[in-house]
Amino acid sequence: MKNTSNHFDVIIIGGSYSGLSAAMALGRSLRKVLILDSGTPCNAQTPHSHNFLTQDGKKPSEIASIALEQVLKYDTVFFEKQKAIEATKTEKGFEISTESEIFFAKKLILATGIRDILPEIKGLKECWGISVIHCPYCHGYEFRHQKTGIMANGERAYHLAGLIKNLTDDVTIFTNGKAEFTDEQFAKLSQNNIHVIEEHILEIVHIQGKLSEIVMDDETSYPLIVLYASLAFEQHTNILEQLECDRTETGHIKIDTFQKISVEGVFACGDNSSPMRSVANAVFTGNVAGAMVNYDLTVENF
Ligand SMILES: Cc1cc2nc3c(=O)[nH]c(=O)nc-3n(C[C@H](O)[C@H](O)[C@H](O)COP(=O)(O)OP(=O)(O)OC[C@H]3O[C@@H](n4cnc5c(N)ncnc54)[C@H](O)[C@@H]3O)c2cc1C
Repeated sequence: MKNTSNHFDVIIIGGSYSGLSAAMALGRSLRKVLILDSGTPCNAQTPHSHNFLTQDGKKPSEIASIALEQVLKYDTVFFEKQKAIEATKTEKGFEISTESEIFFAKKLILATGIRDILPEIKGLKECWGISVIHCPYCHGYEFRHQKTGIMANGERAYHLAGLIKNLTDDVTIFTNGKAEFTDEQFAKLSQNNIHVIEEHILEIVHIQGKLSEIVMDDETSYPLIVLYASLAFEQHTNILEQLECDRTETGHIKIDTFQKISVEGVFACGDNSSPMRSVANAVFTGNVAGAMVNYDLTVENF
């Protein structure tokens, strides 16, 4: 079907795994959908994606392009490689502007992901997603039994240490500043032969993203094959502020069990509204958001 107007039932901002999953549920329900995507998914630098059934080990972009191809087979679904920069709630729904166009829809789905904030440590950016990783479920198996570091502190580091100790016996925590563990946590880490280094990290030495050692401020260095990094994040878009969406304490968009957010007619899915960060969760929450938007449209029109 050729698109002849800028009016849609639903606009989905973000066309990666969560947005495409929502679009599939809506396309199969004959809803006219526009997906706007600016093309910067969070896992772009990762060579292989794991832990998603049927696609284990595939390139992240390959999974996304298969998904897009399948979604665009539904002829009421349209895709534009454009960044949404402004959203306004109107009487009839929503007005979404990009640099060059304005689009209208009755409902809005935010599938915008999050942006990791990489600390200014030499070499970290180049290794991100390759040998500096965020999650043992996604990449831990590939680095099993290897010399492993954790760049985190406090509860987060302690939690990761327990998970990672199951994958390798060689774990060191780099707190990059004063360690924030309770006496019990220190005792447990030592019982499990996990060392804690408090010195500041100066450099991550690597060859084409594959790390070989980590160098501290005092010039001591530790050979490593992989470093788990618990990073801060920010939301991808200030559309959340424009719409005045409520957030959780962690900075995620606040959703109910049906992916509805605090603004009537708006739903969120994927990383922007969940700390459980995975392709499987993005696809699942997108699928729920798509179905729930369709349900609301059905109730309004029936
Ligand atoms: C380095 C790394 C490696 C990972 N490896 C794995 C793995 O192996 N297995 C696994 O299951 N999970 C992995 N993950 C997690 C997984 O990639 C995410 O959970 C998943 O990508 C979330 O999907 P999403 O659709 O919510 O967001 P994203 O995939 O991040 O996509 C968000 C999309 O929204 C677009 N967007 C944002 N704002 C706008 C706007 N204003 N207008 C238009 N478009 C916009 C972006 O351009 C982007 O395309 C990894 C994550 C990282 C960071």
